[in-house]
Amino acid sequence: MSTRFSGKVVLVTGSSNGIGRATAILFAKEGAKVTITGRNAQRLEETKQEILKAGIPEDHVLAIVTDLATEEGQDKLINETIKKFGKLDILVNNAGAAFNDAEAKTGVDQNVSIYDKIMQINLRSVVTLTQKAKKYLVEAKGEIVNVSSIAAGPQAYPALPYYAMSKSALDQYTRSAAIDLIQYGVRVNSVSPGAVATGFRQAMGMPAETYEKYTQFLQSHKECIPYGSIGQPIDIAHIIAFLGDRKLSSYIIGQTIVADGGSTLVMGMQAHNMMDILKS
Ligand code: NDP
Repeated sequence: MSTRFSGKVVLVTGSSNGIGRATAILFAKEGAKVTITGRNAQRLEETKQEILKAGIPEDHVLAIVTDLATEEGQDKLINETIKKFGKLDILVNNAGAAFNDAEAKTGVDQNVSIYDKIMQINLRSVVTLTQKAKKYLVEAKGEIVNVSSIAAGPQAYPALPYYAMSKSALDQYTRSAAIDLIQYGVRVNSVSPGAVATGFRQAMGMPAETYEKYTQFLQSHKECIPYGSIGQPIDIAHIIAFLGDRKLSSYIIGQTIVADGGSTLVMGMQAHNMMDILKS
């Protein structure tokens, strides 16, 4: 077992599922003490059990069921982490969600209540949790890794505009926070995943068979994912660990690493073989 994060304390938000779960398990396997969290107690317990199954001692894991969208939830996360582990080295702001309009409206007609909910969890909670964690991260000369999305742009995303806006604002926050905090030796970076197989769409209410159809479509269209398959949570977890590992990434400040199987490099007008089209 690798020990590159031995002696480090890592808080991973949204670790009851998907990318956050894979990230928490990876950090724990590599020696870190981890605080895992989410609202769903059963899924959070599954994460904990996976960590224990890997042979990690139980006192390396702190599981906290809480709503990150509330300041009380965030205080609980920071206070209990410090109480149990005594410090905080790495904060992974991973929790995030998108919500469908009850009337299935998209684009500019999407209900503004969706805007408020999305901004609350994807952006405001990152801002306030960072404020609450700052003192400890400065003490530890620690790292922050934010989880953004290729939805941040520069391409448009009219199906879920507020989600996309939350992630582009998060990217600017990553850059600004990085320059502010590097004076204290704290690094801030982010990762921008493309499509990854997680509970994200299910959390939006997408039935399992529709999700299957969605992934099949993406995987069979090279203009959607040139790599040919959607990402797995561990693919993103490895990048988060890289950005949290000062030995490997110390000179990267305020950047986002795109991991999307090539999706954002394809421009619609170049996704077709023009030579073939013009021949017919
Ligand atoms: P999942 O739905 O699998 O996981 C989301 C996690 O966030 C869950 O653990 C969930 O916990 C937690 N969460 C959501 N809302 C709250 C809340 N109010 N309070 C506490 N925890 C909350 O999705 P992903 O793993 O895919 O998402 C992780 C990040 O990756 C998000 O920021 C997402 O935007 C980003 N991303 C995902 C992509 C994808 O294709 N999957 C693509 C690009 C970016 P619980 O339900 O227990 O509260």
